[in-house]
Amino acid sequence: MSISDSIFAIKERIKNSALRVGRNPDDIKLVAVTKAVGIDKIKEAMDAGLRIFGENRVQEALKKVTSDALRVTPPIPPLDKGGIEWHLIGHLQKNKAKYAVELFDLIHTVDSIPLADELDKQAKKTGKTQRILIQAKLSEEEAKHGADEKELLPLLERIGSLTNLKLEGLMTMPPFFDDPEMARPYFRRLREIRDAVNSSLVTRHSLLELSMGMSHDFEIAVEEGATMVRIGSAIFANGS
Ligand SMILES: *Cc1c(COP(=O)(O)O)cnc(C)c1O
Repeated sequence: MSISDSIFAIKERIKNSALRVGRNPDDIKLVAVTKAVGIDKIKEAMDAGLRIFGENRVQEALKKVTSDALRVTPPIPPLDKGGIEWHLIGHLQKNKAKYAVELFDLIHTVDSIPLADELDKQAKKTGKTQRILIQAKLSEEEAKHGADEKELLPLLERIGSLTNLKLEGLMTMPPFFDDPEMARPYFRRLREIRDAVNSSLVTRHSLLELSMGMSHDFEIAVEEGATMVRIGSAIFANGS
């Protein structure tokens, strides 16, 4: 399948999943994950209509964000993204916060108070309001990044006091299961947490976004309320 055929097929699947549970398919954004994907293929995805791209690492994103090939509008210096949104979906180290603030429209992976503080500090320097999500870790896995449930409340409270951060929602990455149905409880839990936060007064922000679901489980995530699905291999792995 070509990249544009894959994108078409994925959009159909998102739409059908949304309609199954009475959601509006327009409420779900497709974030094309372009880690290890070259400029040419990203350009194909752009030409097929995608506008939001997700990268795992600051370093790799730099050459893509600044690529002349990857823009739909004429450049406006200094770091114009040409009508494209770039999202950071991988773990962020504090010492790269400065670059992340320069490059990314939305950072999905804020998971600690020190990182939030550093992002706010860097955003202040350039007068930017940095859009972020909190990455929640809802499983017991040792290796995963993310704030666990008991860390969420203090993190939410802190972010609420940081004036250059705009918290827009939550992100999670369940453990990998062969059967995607097994991921459902994690997606559901993230939605419940978001709804609980919104009905409390923990933060001045109203959380709308749920970033959840990848190539093998995005349909379940959409059924459970995802507003952003992060899809890489299903778009690019067998693209022409
Ligand atoms: C790689 C990655 C994805 C996309 O995974 P696919 O299985 O290729 O769709 C989504 N989210 C994160 C955080 C990733 O690292």
